[in-house]
Amino acid sequence: MSDTTDRATSHAEHWPAMAGDILGHEDPITPLELLALQEHPEGDVTALYSPAGVFTYVSAASRATLGWEPEELIGRLAEQYVHPEDLPAVLTCHDTALRSSTAVTATFRFRCKDGGYLWTESLVRRIPHPRDGGRILLLASMRDIANRKLVEDALQRQALTDPLTGIANRTVFMDRLGQALRRLERSTTVIGVIYLDLDRFKVINDSLGHELGDRLLMKVAERTLAALRPTDTLARLGGDEFVVLSEGLTEIDDARRLAERVCESIEEPFVLGQESIVCTASAGVATTADATHSPRGLLQEADLALYRAKGRGRNRAEVFDEDLRTTAVGRLGVERMIRSAIEEDLLRVQYQPIIDLTTGRVVDAEALVRIQGPDELIPPDIFIDIAEESGLLVSVDGVVLDRAVHQVATWSRELAAKGFHGVAINVTGRHLSDSHFGDVVAGSLVDNHLPKGALTIEVTERVLMEASNSALDCLRTIRDLGVPVGLDDFGTGYSSLSYLRQFPLDFVKIDRSFVQQLGAARQTVAIVRAIIDLAHALDMWVVAEGVETVQQQETLIDLGCDRAQGYLFGHADYPDAVSAIINERSVSSGRRYA
Ligand code: C2E
Ligand code: CA
Ligand code: CA
Repeated sequence: MSDTTDRATSHAEHWPAMAGDILGHEDPITPLELLALQEHPEGDVTALYSPAGVFTYVSAASRATLGWEPEELIGRLAEQYVHPEDLPAVLTCHDTALRSSTAVTATFRFRCKDGGYLWTESLVRRIPHPRDGGRILLLASMRDIANRKLVEDALQRQALTDPLTGIANRTVFMDRLGQALRRLERSTTVIGVIYLDLDRFKVINDSLGHELGDRLLMKVAERTLAALRPTDTLARLGGDEFVVLSEGLTEIDDARRLAERVCESIEEPFVLGQESIVCTASAGVATTADATHSPRGLLQEADLALYRAKGRGRNRAEVFDEDLRTTAVGRLGVERMIRSAIEEDLLRVQYQPIIDLTTGRVVDAEALVRIQGPDELIPPDIFIDIAEESGLLVSVDGVVLDRAVHQVATWSRELAAKGFHGVAINVTGRHLSDSHFGDVVAGSLVDNHLPKGALTIEVTERVLMEASNSALDCLRTIRDLGVPVGLDDFGTGYSSLSYLRQFPLDFVKIDRSFVQQLGAARQTVAIVRAIIDLAHALDMWVVAEGVETVQQQETLIDLGCDRAQGYLFGHADYPDAVSAIINERSVSSGRRYA
């Protein structure tokens, strides 16, 4: 806080000194004069102020929006009404608007008469002074964005915390682990990762019911936190899996002792209502003093150690050692499997229908890759991350692109009349940084005589955030070819509604974690509505993922969502099965159809 205030004061040189409360030496502008300027500002409150930052006009709406009578603001230094933390941004906006003829936007908190602050977004533009063309004034149209801010904050919280326990989620944990590893460069300490898993939680959950199961998980989080030091990070990875990050340890044994302490604290019976429940935990510990260790690698080591703790009788902690790595089939086995799947033509592509919520017809299908195992199909969850880390995903995605394009060519001959457009594929960051990717996509569209829109591309937030300029250029090239680009899994990363404005996107896919909470959490409805409204304002369409129930579908229709995908309409399957669904749904119509 004091840091930002300091920065704000150092900026104050751009403004005249704060001479008391009132600076009366700017002549006020009358509403008629403003009218004569032919300016038609939009927004809740309109204000004019001088280059020195003194209000010369404030519209009457200020009373209702900010609590201030216009006269109370006119003649005063605008700076006094800006939240100190937002001042640097406001000053930059002011300077830019003074220097350029285009409008500049600033988002900041304005101090209201009641002492509170209101989040506003101001569009600031330079205009000639109505009485003296040689002078200039700044015209600010201020909009009340308190609601949008509330939703954004909620979205941020939701994206960063585990909704059940309120502790960090995987995204935050991986981020902190990455930072902790980088800090090792400048220190001689050790960091420890503890992977915790409750023993036989499934049995407890099934016999007591999910509600008590959830309460138990909350209590486990509470107890674990109590056993940790304030500087440790506890996160829930999902289900009954928790992880701890502990920094500044002096030796490996510190981490083991910490893990044992956590296991002991969980061993005590939990009292939930009338029930007393005994539940133990197993822990796997991995440590390192090496800054080049990868976050995922370290977590995987802790996971392998956990596996051994389970194997050696549960309710105990085991520390990772190299023996575990050599005996582990884990990662290397998976990598080998992917390589041979590519070589031996064992990659399979299935398609999941995406329906238009207004007509009920199938408009698209998402291509999803699998590996044909000896007995069954191996789902991408098992191998996508490892394929990405080992650089094999570009080949995998290349195969998927190829198959998908051929498939859509077949389908568009057969099914165009049924409202079916094309296939969506998932693309990784590495693919985008490959400058030829745009050409590959263009080539395959031309070779197969595909119309625009026959192919769509999905990228995740992480891919966008990590995208280089050349990757973003590649996305623009692809869009210029008429291939829509969408943001996948929206809401799972560091989601901010502002990404939707920042990146070249045509659609957004709301992650299934939101869709699945639609019936349960009221706040989720507000968030989903805000995402849909903003996307529409930016001319994007919205797809909801993971729709499993009619109720979810109905809510999404009410919220104005455009498309949906999920088990309710069909699992991913081979082309013939998808054709059947497309045909079947092409006869139904009307808004409420399911
Ligand atoms: P995604 O892009 O979010 O794909 C949707 C996933 O949600 C698919 O899982 C799909 O089967 C699943 N799903 C669809 N409807 C429902 C539902 O109603 N309920 C539930 N619980 N799940 C549903 P899948 O096929 O296992 O794919 C997992 C992830 O693997 C994908 O998530 C995507 O990120 C990645 N992936 C799959 N194929 C490819 C590929 O060819 N290339 C790349 N780069 N990634 C891929
Ligand atoms: Ca996807
Ligand atoms: Ca997705």
